[in-house]
Amino acid sequence: MLKINHVTKKYGKTVANRDISFFVDDGQIAVLLGPNGAGKSTIIKCIAGLLRFDGDIEINGNPNKSMEAKRALGYIPELPALYDLLTVEEHMEFVRRAYRMEDDGTAQQLLERFELWDKRDKLGKELSKGMQQKLSICCALVHKPKVVIFDEPMVGLDPHAIKQLKEVFGELRDAGATVLISTHMIDSVEDSWDVVHIMMNGSFAATRQKGEVAEQSLEDLFFTITEGTDAAHSGEQKDGAGE
Ligand code: ADP
Repeated sequence: MLKINHVTKKYGKTVANRDISFFVDDGQIAVLLGPNGAGKSTIIKCIAGLLRFDGDIEINGNPNKSMEAKRALGYIPELPALYDLLTVEEHMEFVRRAYRMEDDGTAQQLLERFELWDKRDKLGKELSKGMQQKLSICCALVHKPKVVIFDEPMVGLDPHAIKQLKEVFGELRDAGATVLISTHMIDSVEDSWDVVHIMMNGSFAATRQKGEVAEQSLEDLFFTITEGTDAAHSGEQKDGAGE
């Protein structure tokens, strides 16, 4: 599970996250949807322990900067951060060993799934942008994390990888993992989400459970909220804060 409690993050005078609270349960997929600059990456980076912030974040019941939390977390950053001089296969081995995991075949399965197995001897610096993104996803999943946060994961992916990734979302949920996906590409999560938080100007403009919008597509909901035509719901925050 993932618990974000009253998180505020400022960059100088810019308030990127303003008193954000939400909870994602085991076996649940939460989506952060919002335009560029809404604050999605900032909250993801706060969760991943990359930024200082005011408030509290718990990953599986542990403070986000604790070793237990880091062990439980898989993080796919917005921009892949790979090693130029490690091969594809060495990346997987490096991450696996860092988490002290035995080689149970998961690394190879992931690489095959994302069509990187035949590229396993290529160096990080030799990979195309899409290949880098796919390897970044594989690296984040190889230790079988209980909580997985994806920051704009579809950017640069080819259709095969997008299909695989959508299946991965469902498999993680079925396995009881906690999943948080930040994106501005609405259709990429249309089939996958359980709860959506629509973010604008550092705050949640609205939160909806899947069952609440059965008749409405996520895209319709997004434009209703962000273009302010739904005065009854815009600006509220029914997000289970502090659960
Ligand atoms: P999103 O991921 O939704 O596009 P971000 O979290 O990247 O939004 O950005 C939220 C706000 O914080 C924006 O106004 C952005 O300009 C600002 N911001 C993001 N990163 C930095 C930074 N390193 N320094 C200063 N301002 C930043």
